[in-house]
Amino acid sequence: MLEVKDLKVSAKTENLVWGHDSFSDHEQVVFCYDKATRLKAIIAIHNTTLGPSLGGTRMWTYKSEAEALNDVLRLSRGMTYKAAISGLKLGGGKAVIIGDSRKDKSEALFRKYGEFVESLGGRYITAEDVGTSTADMVYVRESTKHVTGLPESMGGGGDPSPVTAYGVFMGMKASAKETWGNDSLSGKKIMIQGVGHVGEYLVKMVQDEGAKVYISDINQEQLAVVAKQFNAEIISPDAVYDLDMDIYAPCALGATLNTENISRLKCSIIAGSANNQLADEGVHGRMITEKGILYAPDFLINAGGLINVYSELKGYNHQQALDQSKHIYDTTLEIFRKAKTENITTASAAIKIAEERIAAAKK
Ligand code: NAD
Repeated sequence: MLEVKDLKVSAKTENLVWGHDSFSDHEQVVFCYDKATRLKAIIAIHNTTLGPSLGGTRMWTYKSEAEALNDVLRLSRGMTYKAAISGLKLGGGKAVIIGDSRKDKSEALFRKYGEFVESLGGRYITAEDVGTSTADMVYVRESTKHVTGLPESMGGGGDPSPVTAYGVFMGMKASAKETWGNDSLSGKKIMIQGVGHVGEYLVKMVQDEGAKVYISDINQEQLAVVAKQFNAEIISPDAVYDLDMDIYAPCALGATLNTENISRLKCSIIAGSANNQLADEGVHGRMITEKGILYAPDFLINAGGLINVYSELKGYNHQQALDQSKHIYDTTLEIFRKAKTENITTASAAIKIAEERIAAAKK
């Protein structure tokens, strides 16, 4: 008979989940597999103290299973903080599907994925994310009711980007108030990096307020359209970090705030929609503060999208989602006050407020 001591565990796998660097007291991690549809997904539920965990499903061509696990653990933890700081009765969760969103999608795959979501009985509610769309969520809906990000015709909120952009705009104005004593963006030089769904709406909002807008994107076609429509000046991707600007708004990728880029930055404020902007939360949060730049934490000011899908759970109301996103202005100022009082970075202050809310709810 095989005994436990006989089981050999490889060094590579022995700390796969609980010993993983990105494991942060996650409540549940579910590995989902279906041979027929070739579904390989991981659902990570980080924390459900404040309510069911909600977070999108990302479809990505991860180089390895370890990379996919790392991503889902980091993203689900971020969702816990985003929901808590935004005052929502939601916990944090996220899912990843390993695959190429251009080639590997099928109705059957999303239906099967929906069955796994359903099996969690509402502890995890899904939505669209990078690589998935409202149309995919319609297939997921065939197997589970625990899904948001549905089209307006099905009672959903449709594309959350306008609400996300509005929240970022509010966070930017609060940062202006803190820095210059006045929240007007008129005449300010604003660099928007990435003019996709969120970036394009943001360009319009800041331009309507009289800002001088600079834009950058690797998609030349989209760049030309936005530049023409809003009379924005194009900056090449390499020149972004050397630009003489008042506000840098990262709205493309995460981790652009690394040691090299921060040392080049000549701005007063960083406020954008991209998730996980700081390459290393501790190191780069401190480096930005020491440079005298005010950083509006990403997971706070980009919460409009989450607020939008949350609204679907109660019967979608676009105006209410916008009204709730407006509070991002006050919360941003509250975080700046806490950071100053406690002499900590703004990112740490935001995490502290989120953790305090969760701890209070536990009591
Ligand atoms: P998107 O894919 O529509 O737009 C991203 C844009 O960035 C694209 O136009 C792309 O070409 C460009 N880009 C990619 N790499 C670049 C680079 N190196 N330099 C310049 N531009 C580059 O995505 P989106 O929905 O607008 O989201 C933007 C960011 O905001 C993402 O990080 C996303 O995770 C985050 N976010 C989005 C929402 C939302 O509601 N859409 C909510 C919260 C957070």
